Amino acid sequence: MMGSMGRLLDGQAVAAAIRADVLPGVAEFTSGAGRPPGLGIVLVGDNPASEIYVRNKVRSGTESGVWVDLQRLPATASIDDLLAVVNRLNISERHDGILVQAPLPEAMGRHAAQRVFDTIDPDKDVDGFHPANVGRLVQGRAHLAPCTPSGVIELLDRSDIPIARRYAVIIGRSDIVGKPMAMLLLQRDATVTICHSRTADLPEVASRADILVAAIGRAGFVTRDFVKPGAAVIDVGINRVSDRATAVSLFGPSSPRLADFDRRGSVVAGDVHPEVAGIAGALTPVPGGVGPLTIAMLLKNTLAAASARRGGR
Ligand code: NDP
Repeated sequence: MMGSMGRLLDGQAVAAAIRADVLPGVAEFTSGAGRPPGLGIVLVGDNPASEIYVRNKVRSGTESGVWVDLQRLPATASIDDLLAVVNRLNISERHDGILVQAPLPEAMGRHAAQRVFDTIDPDKDVDGFHPANVGRLVQGRAHLAPCTPSGVIELLDRSDIPIARRYAVIIGRSDIVGKPMAMLLLQRDATVTICHSRTADLPEVASRADILVAAIGRAGFVTRDFVKPGAAVIDVGINRVSDRATAVSLFGPSSPRLADFDRRGSVVAGDVHPEVAGIAGALTPVPGGVGPLTIAMLLKNTLAAASARRGGR
C-alpha cells in the first residue's frame, strides 16, 4: 500500500443516504402527529465555529421536514438562564429533541456542560449525553446514542469496512466522542483500545489498529508512523489552522488547500496529517468526512425521539 492513495470515504454521500432514509419516517410522523418532529437547538454566545455548526444543523433539519427551533442566549447568560431554557423545552409538547451547542462560555463554569446534560429530559436528549443515556449505551441498549460516533459506525458499515474481530484504536477519551466511540465499536465486536495524552508509545499502539479513530483536536497530529498500511483511518478532528507555516507543513507549498489559506487567512484541518493518505487503506477527509455524518445522525435521533414520545418506539 505504501505510496498508493487510500480510498477516500465520502461522508457527504453517506450523510445524504442517511437523510434519505430518515425522510419517509419524518413524513409519516408528521401526518400521524399533525405536526413535524421538533428539535430545539440552544446556542449560547457567538463562537464562530458554533455559528457554522448550528447553521448547518438548522438548514439540514429544515430541509428534512423537521421543525427546528433555534433559541439564542447572549454570551453573558448565566448557567441558570440556560437551564431555564432547557427546562422550558423539556416540558414543551412540540419539542421532541433538545441540543445545547458546545462549547459553553467559560464564564458558566467548569461543570456547566455536565449540568446541562443532567437537566435535559433523557427522552429528548438527541446528543445522548444524559447519564441515563450514557448508561444505556454502556449496557448496549442505547436508544439515543451520541451523533458523531454513531455516524462513524454508519460510515464504516455503508463503506463495507468490517468491524467485528478487527482491532480498533481510538485516540481521545472525551465523553462526547472517544468514550462512546469505544462503546459502539465494542458492541460491534471490535477489540478496542482507548488512547489519550498520557498513553505510552502512542504511535506504536496506534499502528497496530485496523480501524484508527482520531478525536484529539490537534491539526495533523496523526502522522504516517501512527498508521498500519491499509488501515481505515477516521478523522474526527476539526481544527482551524491560522498559522501559515503549519498550513504549509500540513498541505505542502503548492496545494489547493494552501491557496484556500492564502485567500481566507485560515483553513480547517483534521487530526490526521494528509500524508496518511499515502498509507491508509481508507481515510475520511476533513471537511466532508465525519462532520456531515454528525448532522445526519442528529436528524435520525430527532425522529427516533419524536416517534418514541408518541409511543411508536
Ligand atoms: P476533547 O478536547 O474533549 O478531547 C480530546 C482528547 O484527545 C482527550 O482525551 C485528550 O487526552 C486527547 N489528546 C489531546 N492531546 C493529545 C496528545 N498529544 N496525545 C494523545 N491524546 C491527546 O475533544 P473532543 O473529543 O470534543 O473533540 C476532538 C476533536 O474532534 C476536536 O477537533 C473537535 O473539534 C472534533 N469534533 C468533531 C465533531 C464532528 O462532528 N466531526 C464533533 C465533535 C468534535 P486527555 O484526556 O488525556 O486530555
